[in-house]
Amino acid sequence: MFIRKIGIDLGTTNTLVFIPKKGVVVNEPSVVAVSVADRTIMAVGVEAKKMLGRTPDTIMALRPLKDGVIADYKITEAMIEYFVNKGCGRMRLFKPEIMISVPAGVTSTERRAVVDAAVQAGAKAAYVIKEPVLAAIGANIPINEASGNMIVNIGGGTAEIAVISLGGIVAWSSVRVAGNKIDQAIIDYIRRTQNLELGERTAEEIKINIGSAIPVSEEEEMEVRGRDTITGLPRVAKIKTNQITEAISDQLKEIVNAVKMVLQDTPPELAADIMNKGMVLSGGGSLLKNIDELLFKTTGVPAIRAKDPLLCVAKGTGIVLENLDVYKKSIMSKK
Ligand code: ADP
Ligand code: MG
Repeated sequence: MFIRKIGIDLGTTNTLVFIPKKGVVVNEPSVVAVSVADRTIMAVGVEAKKMLGRTPDTIMALRPLKDGVIADYKITEAMIEYFVNKGCGRMRLFKPEIMISVPAGVTSTERRAVVDAAVQAGAKAAYVIKEPVLAAIGANIPINEASGNMIVNIGGGTAEIAVISLGGIVAWSSVRVAGNKIDQAIIDYIRRTQNLELGERTAEEIKINIGSAIPVSEEEEMEVRGRDTITGLPRVAKIKTNQITEAISDQLKEIVNAVKMVLQDTPPELAADIMNKGMVLSGGGSLLKNIDELLFKTTGVPAIRAKDPLLCVAKGTGIVLENLDVYKKSIMSKK
């Protein structure tokens, strides 16, 4: 295999590897299992996720990018190496050029850490681009035009909102409220109202299956299993859509407020463009039912879900890699 360029969407929840002309070749959870005693890496990705919540005392499963920052550098490096090997094979003829997305809020130290980690992992050169910019490119937004474009990328750890014009970020905000905090809000709500303790995965399933950002007239219902907080025994309960809407309303309000703030920071000409075109939603969190409606109702700006929201950032890395000359000047920083 002659793989010369690869893109990595280093997400807080999922990491995707993109190879030009092939597409997404790896898509696994951003989880690393390490041994507590000597911090050796036991497993990465799917294998490591299976261990979350089920590890014995000697192993811990970590999300190294929790909340959109590099929480643990060594482990992040091991994770990048695993994904590079998985994407291009261990036996490589060439050192690939690697393009990696980083959360918009990373510090320059963290940015350098990611570049170093990629070089350690075998990159000839490593470039990093801010995630909302890649999400916008992957959503087919013409970011290099002199016109305002707004992207709202809702992932697991962070929601990032950016207004982009002429390839640059004009206004932005990032909040550490996204899919994970929404799941946690569901857990808290069910514990409070039904004395039932749910696991993280169950909460996520509820959100995906019956959740909605605004109340609906025809509710869906789901049977869930958890542990009764009084008897300590397993129990089943029925949950309905509008209960979930209530459970997650504070978290959604924080995201809405961040979007409003960015709109208020946007110069009038660009705001007019955004009003015309609408804001574009990407990231797994944007798949929550009716979140487009909620954003429209609360901001007055139409909201449009991108095609394949979970893949936008990965696709963005691919588009930039295939057009390095176009993007090199405007949006990249290299080492
Ligand atoms: P990151 O970039 O932070 O890794 P992703 O863009 O991969 O995040 O999105 C992961 C988040 O999307 C998780 O919190 C997951 O629960 C959520 N998600 C995935 N599918 C759906 C869905 N259909 N409805 C609501 N949330 C979803
Ligand atoms: Mg992401």
